[in-house]
Amino acid sequence: MTAELSERIGRIRFSSTMETAARADELRRRGVDVVDLSVGEPDFPTPEHVKEAAIRAIRADFTRYTPAAGIPELREAVCARHAADFGTRYEVPECVITAGGKHAVFNFIQTLVNPGDEVIIPAPYWVTYRDAVLLAGGRPIVVPTEPAEGFTLRAEEVRKRVSDATRMLILNFPNNPSGALLDSGEAARLVELAVGCGFWILSDECYANLVYEGEPFSVASVPGAASVVLVAGSLSKTYAMTGWRIGYGLGPRHVIEGCIRLQSHSTSNPNSVAQKAALEALRGPQDCVAAMREEYRWRRDRVIARLRRMPGVTVHSPGGAFYAFPGIGAWLEDGRFPSSAAFAERLLEEVRVACVPGEAFGAPGHLRFSLAASRQALEEGLDRIEAFLARLAR
Ligand code: GLU
Repeated sequence: MTAELSERIGRIRFSSTMETAARADELRRRGVDVVDLSVGEPDFPTPEHVKEAAIRAIRADFTRYTPAAGIPELREAVCARHAADFGTRYEVPECVITAGGKHAVFNFIQTLVNPGDEVIIPAPYWVTYRDAVLLAGGRPIVVPTEPAEGFTLRAEEVRKRVSDATRMLILNFPNNPSGALLDSGEAARLVELAVGCGFWILSDECYANLVYEGEPFSVASVPGAASVVLVAGSLSKTYAMTGWRIGYGLGPRHVIEGCIRLQSHSTSNPNSVAQKAALEALRGPQDCVAAMREEYRWRRDRVIARLRRMPGVTVHSPGGAFYAFPGIGAWLEDGRFPSSAAFAERLLEEVRVACVPGEAFGAPGHLRFSLAASRQALEEGLDRIEAFLARLAR
C-alpha cells in the first residue's frame, strides 16, 4: 500500500488560525506566560440558560441520531431569528443545521463548485475559504481591497474578475480579519451582478450580530437575492458557543437538499444535545448578545486607540467582528523582517504575544489581534507590543 495521501488532501494546508492557537496553547502547557490574541474565540462562557437546556436534553435522553438536516424546530428557529434580525423569509426546507459555520461553508462549496470553476474571494479573507475551494477542485480568484479605504469591497472590483467560469463569490461581512462592513448599495449591485451573470453569492454571516456601526445587515435581505444568495451562519460567536459546533445554511431548496445529502454521509447529523442548546439560544432572551457586543465595543475602542499611538502602526477601527487588523508595513521596509509572518514570529518569541500574520488572510503587511480576550489580557498584550516596538526603534 502506498503511503501517499490523496492528491486532494495535498491541495490544502492546516488552518493557520487553528495552528497559531495550537502553538500558543502548547507554549502555555509548557508553563510559558503567553498572551494569546490569535484565535477568534469568545472568552465569555456560554450563557446559563443555554447550558441548562443542554443539561435538560441529556437528562431527557435526547442523545440519539436526529434527522440529517437537524431537528425541524431548530431549523424553524433559525429561519425565525434570521427573519427577525435581517427581514428575510426563509422556510424550513430552505435551512440545514450544520456542525458549525465552517461546515456550512464546506457543504455549500462541495455542493456547488465543480473542478475548474472560479470562485471570487475578496481579500483579506478568512483562511478556510481558499482551502475549501481548492479541495473541491475550484480556482480561487482573489480580489484585493484597500487598507486606506478600510478594506471596503466595491462591486466594480468584483465585476472586473467575473468570467465565464465564475461559479461563486464569497462574501464575509463583518469581515474576519478586517472588521469591514458591506455597504448596502454595493450589496445590491453585487446581487444584480450575480443574477445577471449567473453565479452564486455565499455570504458567511458568522459575525452578523457583532456590528458596532449602524444596523446588522444580511445580503440575503436585498430584493432579488433569494435565487442567488446562500447564507452560512453560526452560533459560535453570537452566543459564545464555539465548542458546541452548531451553524446553519440558508438558501434555495435544491441547494439545501444537496447539502443535506452530503451531510447524511459525513456527519449523519449535528450533535443532538448541542441542537437543543442552540434552540434555547435562538428562542430565549437575546440580552446576552447585546451585553457581549457592548464589551467587544469597549475593547475595540481601547485597543484601536492604543495601537494608533504606536510607532509604525496604522489601523482603522473595525465596524464589526472582533479583530484589530493593523498594518505594520513601516517595520518591514528596512528589511529587518522579510514578512509580517516573520514579525509575528519574533513577537511570539521575544514578548510572548500570539497573533495571526496577514499572509494567512491574503493581506501581507498586517497582523490580526483577536479582541475576544479579557481586558486584562489585552492590556498586557498591548504593553508587551509597545515594549517590543520601543526596542526595535532604538
Ligand atoms: N474563525 C476563528 C478565527 O478566525 C476561529 C478559528 C477558525 O476556525 O479559523 O480565528
